[in-house]
Amino acid sequence: MNIVYFVFESKEMKNFFKVILDFLIPPTCPVCHKRGSNEGLCPECFSGLEFIGKQKCARCGRPLDVFLPEIENICGQCLKKPPHFHRAEAVFKYNDTIKRLILPFKHGDHIELTELFVRFMAANNREIIDKNQVIIPVPLHWSRLLKRKYNQAALLAKRLAKRHHKIYAPLVLKRTKSTKSQGHLSPKERSKNVRGVFVVKQPEQIQGKNVLLIDDVFTTGATANECAKVLLKSGAKSVDVLTIARVVKN
Ligand SMILES: [Zn+2]
Ligand SMILES: [Zn+2]
Repeated sequence: MNIVYFVFESKEMKNFFKVILDFLIPPTCPVCHKRGSNEGLCPECFSGLEFIGKQKCARCGRPLDVFLPEIENICGQCLKKPPHFHRAEAVFKYNDTIKRLILPFKHGDHIELTELFVRFMAANNREIIDKNQVIIPVPLHWSRLLKRKYNQAALLAKRLAKRHHKIYAPLVLKRTKSTKSQGHLSPKERSKNVRGVFVVKQPEQIQGKNVLLIDDVFTTGATANECAKVLLKSGAKSVDVLTIARVVKN
């Protein structure tokens, strides 16, 4: 019994089996489907990823051209109209390469990509993860969940919470209306489109707590901001936002 346990549970044996498996079925890059590397992505696709890095707005995470390391840098838009969330961060700029990973994750049942995204988040955004106690995904409306079968933000939030020993609270936020696709809306229209769409169902889970909200892509921040507004109103101490990618207008 003990030997069986050793064979299947020991790290050495797992690594041994992984080496054999990688030899028999070489891992393929999830972006271009050519042969991948240890990180999963092939070197060409990996170099196509654009990390946001540290030179960004301390509130909304927008990359900044002018950046002074010794002060808190806040972009003009956040100075003019501060968001409800305290801080939003993303691992990558939204570009063609990351889009080719996010779309199959979101719409193509490629839920195995969860682990890869969470690893990137953990490596690049550790501070924001460590600060928060409760992790909440941006919810889908039930009708969309039925169509898509899963909520990609919930997969990320659950895995991240497990990995970093945080409370995963998927039922705190509820989307009460199915909103039209935000794809072609202006920032103003997006804000209007999500206004009043979210309600807090379990306020006791967030009262006095630092909350981390998880989504796949941060576009204008309208959705994250609306979620943060209702979470704060229901007693959350602070709300931060973490996404895989962020749209950056040139
Ligand atoms: Zn590739
Ligand atoms: Zn900003």
